[in-house]
Amino acid sequence: MRLFDKTELQKKYPLITWEDVPILRTICDTVPKVTPDIRKFCKDILKLMREYEWVWLAAPQIWQNYRIAAVTQRDTSATDTQGRSEWKLLDEFVIINPVVLSQSDESDVAEEACLSLPKIKGDVERPYSITIQFIDIKWKEQIHKATWFNARVILHEMDHLDGVLFIDKLA
Ligand SMILES: [Zn+2]
Repeated sequence: MRLFDKTELQKKYPLITWEDVPILRTICDTVPKVTPDIRKFCKDILKLMREYEWVWLAAPQIWQNYRIAAVTQRDTSATDTQGRSEWKLLDEFVIINPVVLSQSDESDVAEEACLSLPKIKGDVERPYSITIQFIDIKWKEQIHKATWFNARVILHEMDHLDGVLFIDKLA
């Protein structure tokens, strides 16, 4: 994560780094349609997520009251030639107005962290697998299934859109 030499995008969308900010506790507004401004924002938030070298970033973390988040999905079974896990990037995309359609009864506990809560980590229990529906950057409806780490990424982000932080859910 870059701590200084902020890029133009990082200056345009300052990252909130403490919980005591109302927008982090706001139920964000549904996006009524993808306008050129929204499409630009979606590209910007994806780029910002990469700049911060992070796996997820939600609009309220950068002062934007939209139900929009950037997420990465990784191949958690991938290993390098020595057999070490590599977790290659499979995909990264923006989810607009996401909704959980179904989730497994089976759950999983793992440590989470958040760009907006530096120095805090903690175990959070979440469903092992989920199916979500969302709108993509082209305003197309998408159905997406995710398991384990990838489900966790999406659910952590969806919580942000409802003003929920992982510290509310510590196991
Ligand atoms: Zn977070």
